[in-house]
Amino acid sequence: MKVLVAVKRVVDYNVKVRVKPDNSGIDLSNVKMSMNPFCEIAVEEAVRLKEKGVVAEIVVVSIGEAKAEEQIRAAIALGADRGILVQAEGPVSSLTAAKTLKVIAEKEQPDMVILGKQAIDSDNNQTGQMLAALMGCAQGTFASKVEVDGNQVQVTREIDGGLQTIKLQLPAVITTDLRLNEPRYAKLPDIMKAKKKPLEKITLQELGVVACTSLTTLKVEAPAERSAGIKVASVADLVEKLKNEAKVIS
Ligand code: AMP
Repeated sequence: MKVLVAVKRVVDYNVKVRVKPDNSGIDLSNVKMSMNPFCEIAVEEAVRLKEKGVVAEIVVVSIGEAKAEEQIRAAIALGADRGILVQAEGPVSSLTAAKTLKVIAEKEQPDMVILGKQAIDSDNNQTGQMLAALMGCAQGTFASKVEVDGNQVQVTREIDGGLQTIKLQLPAVITTDLRLNEPRYAKLPDIMKAKKKPLEKITLQELGVVACTSLTTLKVEAPAERSAGIKVASVADLVEKLKNEAKVIS
């Protein structure tokens, strides 16, 4: 069984992002970039399936700037076999990513495509769903458990107030939720070995994908600054302030 895993290079989740002075977006200069955390979970799941003997090959794909090679190498260090870097100028929309992954899937013929449920830079939560629609295959989104059974996969999904278990016919698209697994850290020797593993580089144009520009970001704003807190002398004082100042209780 072959698994394709999509990994996106995003601003590291520990970074407190700065909005550009003209509100046109986020200032990415000198900002630490990492693999999207949900993509790390996707890689980990594929690696666990390989360790169980269910999966034979893991191919990692990233679409973006040349530096996204770092995230592909990171995924290889965690256990993926090879990578494909699709180079694209500027931001890559979810639809462009989905269209690109569809072309790669046609070439690679994977049994499963595993993606993060969302990229933490744009918080779109769209690519997996769009990809499944483009591929005309089943989708198991927000997966918290994945069990392959022959030519089917059982996916437990995190839904509002509970869990839903579904069975999908392979090939299928799966998107990972936070509780699917806890990703491992790469070992230094594996990081060194990953530098020599196969990594194919191709451009969007060479794949025949036209980047979609149907969406324009009008404005990005930082959250309002929180005002400083105060100390209250007693519970009665607290209740009085909640009632009369904050007006959150009556
Ligand atoms: P989104 O729907 O844009 O929030 O992204 C959801 C998931 O789609 C991510 O966690 C990745 O697995 C995949 N994805 C989105 N954009 C890219 C990209 N440029 N390169 C590789 N994977 C991507």
